[in-house]
Amino acid sequence: EKARLAALSNLPATTVDGKTVEIFANVGNQQDVEFAVQKGAEGIGLFRTEFLYMQNTKFPTEEEQFEVYKTAIQTMKRPTILRTLDIGGDKELSYYEFDKEENPFLGWRAIRICLDMKDVFKTQLRAMLRASAYGDIRIMFPMIISLEELRAAREVLEECKEELRASSTPFNDSIQTGIMIETPAAVLMARELASEADFFSIGTNDLTQYLLAVDRGNQKIAKLYNSFHPAVLRAIAEIIAAGHAGGIEVGMCGEFASDPRAIPVLLGLGLDEFSMSASEVAASKYAIRGLDAIKCETFAKEVCAQATLEQVLAMVSQ
Ligand code: PEP
Ligand code: MG
Repeated sequence: EKARLAALSNLPATTVDGKTVEIFANVGNQQDVEFAVQKGAEGIGLFRTEFLYMQNTKFPTEEEQFEVYKTAIQTMKRPTILRTLDIGGDKELSYYEFDKEENPFLGWRAIRICLDMKDVFKTQLRAMLRASAYGDIRIMFPMIISLEELRAAREVLEECKEELRASSTPFNDSIQTGIMIETPAAVLMARELASEADFFSIGTNDLTQYLLAVDRGNQKIAKLYNSFHPAVLRAIAEIIAAGHAGGIEVGMCGEFASDPRAIPVLLGLGLDEFSMSASEVAASKYAIRGLDAIKCETFAKEVCAQATLEQVLAMVSQ
């Protein structure tokens, strides 16, 4: 029985009418990567590198990070998207004092910190680049709100490449660099961002929080936090359309990607890659194998046209 399930988890996510999407895993450490391979993940859609920083007693060195990323890609042997440091907000470091902020989720976090602390950023980017000599490593920037940020991040990456070239250190010169779409600004700028980024990954955890202005961790308003809100669904539809218009692939690494009620909608909207906790991979692949992509497309349009969350929920719960 176990062997039968394991064999099933290695089948691709191909719909009854022949459309195949990629099912990737979200990870935070080497143990997660091994689990992802075991569970049939076809890649890593989100490596949350901040855990490496949060578990340490100082900023991890280039060498330490290089070993972690290299081991990950050598284990996965398939596309592995490394997200650059995403601290701030609710994620703190024991060895670095953050100024107290009134609104940490709207404050100094993620790419904002990296662009301000260039040494920390470059240490990480060099480690990622060096690991790219060992397989299909891709780099992803979080919390992007503008083209300027993407360009600035890439400029720092170019500096790192130059340094590695100067020391004849191997890396993949055509490494893909993409961005998370998790802010309302990025949704509205998606067309322009798609013309410069190599891929998009939708972060529905933050996107839902920022679009609805509902703190993702506040229990008192937890019932307002719902990614099936028509505003969130329409944003997702627009991001996918913008990505495809720009000729790039669009994935999703927020929790929504593995919600059984969301999968038919996301498939119908044309999502190319679904990234989730490894424990959800087999079930999500199985669910997609039972779907018809053409029917899902019609269904997704109808769902996105609903005026209320209640109506959406009624449709997707059937
Ligand atoms: C997200 O915001 O959807 C996401 C995947 O990133 P995190 O949950 O780490 O903020
Ligand atoms: Mg996020």
